[in-house]
Amino acid sequence: MRQQIVAGNWKMNKTLDEGVELTKAFLEKVENPNGLVVVAPTFPLLRDIGKLLKARKSFHLAAQNCHQEEKGAFTGEVSADVLASVGCEFVIIGHSERRQHFKERNEILAAKVNVCLARGMRPIFCCGEPLPIREADTHVGFVAKQLKTGLFHLKEADFRKVVIAYEPIWAIGTGRTASSAQAQEMHHAIRVLVAKKYGKVVADDTSILYGGSCNAQNAVELFSQPDVDGGLIGGASLKAEDFAAIVAAMK
Ligand code: PEP
Repeated sequence: MRQQIVAGNWKMNKTLDEGVELTKAFLEKVENPNGLVVVAPTFPLLRDIGKLLKARKSFHLAAQNCHQEEKGAFTGEVSADVLASVGCEFVIIGHSERRQHFKERNEILAAKVNVCLARGMRPIFCCGEPLPIREADTHVGFVAKQLKTGLFHLKEADFRKVVIAYEPIWAIGTGRTASSAQAQEMHHAIRVLVAKKYGKVVADDTSILYGGSCNAQNAVELFSQPDVDGGLIGGASLKAEDFAAIVAAMK
């Protein structure tokens, strides 16, 4: 069955004390979420934040990235093995900031997806187009290529563990949200692509999250769309009240 999910991506924000304070404040404000709530702090905070989350049902820990190799001489990187050992259940893969600043191509992302799944974690696979592609009206084809190269090599049983996050790059951190109609159009197109590859049952069960300036004000409208199954939240996940309101918007 398709899961509703709200995931908070803290990016490179919050010290340990700040992160613990934010998590405690947020947990106090959320009673019984309608779906899964995932929090992705920076690597050094994972264990402490994870302990707070695990004390409550429906709350899960995610990493913001992992290296594509299993282990070895990759100074400064973190493996899927290590992430699983500190309690991560999800890993964000292919965030547009990683694609842009760290030149992560779809082929590398496919390898990251593989190592996550091999360690029993669920990838939150990000896709989304830059503004010129949207303006040229080629956004569906652009995202289709990201999915085909990054995800569609998976066997059905593994693909079923994947969460897709559609994040138009022009909407991330800009305050410019996709309209609910734009989000629905792309989410539906993604579901059709998944159905063509894995069949309708798998497509209907796949959670497709929206990300890009989603906030406490627009979450209800966005999440009310039939193919929008929650959100991947950046800026608004850094404020307990706002993140709690977005979690409450899950249908
Ligand atoms: C993100 O970084 O995934 C994101 C959606 O950021 P924001 O909500 O700040 O646009």
